[in-house]
Amino acid sequence: MRRLVSCLVLSLVPLLVMTAASERLIIAQVRPAAPSLLIRNVTVIDGTGAPPRAGANVLIRDGRIAAVGADAPVTDVVIDGHGLFALPGLIDAHVHLSGGTWTQAVAQLSRALHGGVTTVFDMAGDVRMTSDLSRAALAQEIESPTIGYVSLFAGPAFFTDPRVVAASLGYRPGDAPWNRVIDGNTDIARAVAEARGAGATTIKLYAALDGPTVKRIGEEAARQQVLLVAHATVFPAKPSDLVAAGAKMLAHAAYLVWEGMPASPDFPKRARGDFGSVPPDGPVMTSLLQSMKDHDVALNPTLWIFSDGPAKDDLAAVRTPWMNAVTRRAQDLGVVIAAGVDDMTSERDPLPLLHRELETLVTGAKLTPLQAITAATRGAAHAIGMDDARGSLAVGKAGDVLIVDADPSADIRNTRRIRYVIKDGRIVRAEGATR
Ligand SMILES: [Zn+2]
Repeated sequence: MRRLVSCLVLSLVPLLVMTAASERLIIAQVRPAAPSLLIRNVTVIDGTGAPPRAGANVLIRDGRIAAVGADAPVTDVVIDGHGLFALPGLIDAHVHLSGGTWTQAVAQLSRALHGGVTTVFDMAGDVRMTSDLSRAALAQEIESPTIGYVSLFAGPAFFTDPRVVAASLGYRPGDAPWNRVIDGNTDIARAVAEARGAGATTIKLYAALDGPTVKRIGEEAARQQVLLVAHATVFPAKPSDLVAAGAKMLAHAAYLVWEGMPASPDFPKRARGDFGSVPPDGPVMTSLLQSMKDHDVALNPTLWIFSDGPAKDDLAAVRTPWMNAVTRRAQDLGVVIAAGVDDMTSERDPLPLLHRELETLVTGAKLTPLQAITAATRGAAHAIGMDDARGSLAVGKAGDVLIVDADPSADIRNTRRIRYVIKDGRIVRAEGATR
């Protein structure tokens, strides 16, 4: 027995030495290096809002963008970009991955990636599953966008929701570090540390929290360098309380209406504000949006799901024009718009729903196609804390590229005309145009 143990120990030694020696070595073992790749003579839409630039060469090496410019160096793989348009891989800043089974999530992620979405941000669920998916994506065990995710904080009223129970199996509702009840007894410093320990880079404030509590969470999140995002109202805290607390993204444009209304004690009513009483261009909304701009708080409008998707209800006829107008006004006042669906794929559409959200940003909120593209690239990356690595076609950023065969800055529906999807420098889809 002793002999067996010592044999095992000895056989582990080289592995341990290697692990300590070089993190780069480990990464190289897990992720085979993609060949260098040149997209030649393509029109670049770089995700920053800059106008399209024709005749560019994009060089991707070691999974990252190494050059964007006139030179066309010799590389392993060359894509002839003549007549094509290259934009950053799309980012959906609001998905939920863990509502079904692992197999369903993997299938959805694969469809999202092949449909041009190279990064998704999970805005609440069972973090055990999401973090497993995120790791499998990094290790290329599954075909998937890069996955970021949150831990959720909410007041006691939320923790009877069956979705919370399902996402916290094995825990009393409210006790899971990623689905945490916050009440007068909560040690907030510890709750933030445990949320972070669960692997989340971000805390999402969901519902049933008051202004002072939101402020304390914001201070602690800042101290522990955790990003804070929120539903745009969390009752009784108003949108402006969330801005003051340091939230960096507010989800659901429709919920902003509560800035001009008394809070409802019934948080599921938050999509059912009195939209007629708070003009989208009136002083209350203008002051809120101005303050979002001043504090670098992004708006994640989720227009499609409320206007034409599963959350559409009898109030849609008044809510839709209101949230469209508020989103347009936010864009005009310089608020960062972060596109996201609050869903990911649908059996009724071969492509991820983010393409529908992009169309709605243009046809509903009247953003220009270029503004909509920016919302699903640099804007979304900024709001979820990833803009140092992703969201624009610039040197040093990840080699996440969507190549389409017609100009999406002329017609946003052209994001659907996919010719190539490139993820971290690897071609994951290459084919004729699809509609
Ligand atoms: Zn959501």
